[in-house]
Amino acid sequence: MAIDLDKIRAMHEKLSNPASGGSSDFSNNFVQLQEGTTVLRILPPKEDDLDFYAMTKIHRVPTSDGNVKNIHCRQVHGEQCPICNLYYSLWKEPTKDENLARQIKGRDRYYMNVVERETGDVKILSVGIILFKKIIAAMCDPDYGDITDLKDGHDFKIIKVMEGQWPKYDQSAPRPKPSEAGSGQETAAWMESLHDIYSLVKLEDYEELKQVAESINPFSAVERSANDNHQTSNDASDDDYMKRLQS
Ligand SMILES: [Zn+2]
Repeated sequence: MAIDLDKIRAMHEKLSNPASGGSSDFSNNFVQLQEGTTVLRILPPKEDDLDFYAMTKIHRVPTSDGNVKNIHCRQVHGEQCPICNLYYSLWKEPTKDENLARQIKGRDRYYMNVVERETGDVKILSVGIILFKKIIAAMCDPDYGDITDLKDGHDFKIIKVMEGQWPKYDQSAPRPKPSEAGSGQETAAWMESLHDIYSLVKLEDYEELKQVAESINPFSAVERSANDNHQTSNDASDDDYMKRLQS
């Protein structure tokens, strides 16, 4: 009798991803950028003194089971960050581990509330620096101005092209013509259902990050097995949704 390997693999995926069931609703809150064109309208903040985006930095840290854990950099909050410290120390080592350094380097992430035109839903758009620069450049260009303006802003087209395994977004741009975001009723409903993007920028626990940094530091004198005991899975749901933000 042969074992159904596909079934086993599916089970393995499920088991190694314990939060996948519980957080699937949450990940639905995010725009999933598919290859091709995604049209959306970036929404203004609820109040004038808030930014229309929330910024964080993400460290992608390898785990002992071969996966990657996404960790918010504490420096975003002006706090000491053990992963950043490890990153800098890796470059200083005479036999430096450049691959690990490159992998764990903190990378900018930006969250915005948007209306996904295809579904009409208010979702969270999570982008890296390249797309965010395009959005900011458009806002500073007098031909566009504040593209989030509900009356005469601009929809934004994200064009995702795969080059090998890496997505490219070079052709992304605002629609040239300004437009109303929606009817008065629609925009009122959207502005009532904005997601709390600011709370996504999590302040990670210092001690926890210190242990993570020690566990992956190839020059650490501490036994790896000793650290494994400290690694908890109570961040699993956060881990899971962040994994989905990588596109
Ligand atoms: Zn950091």
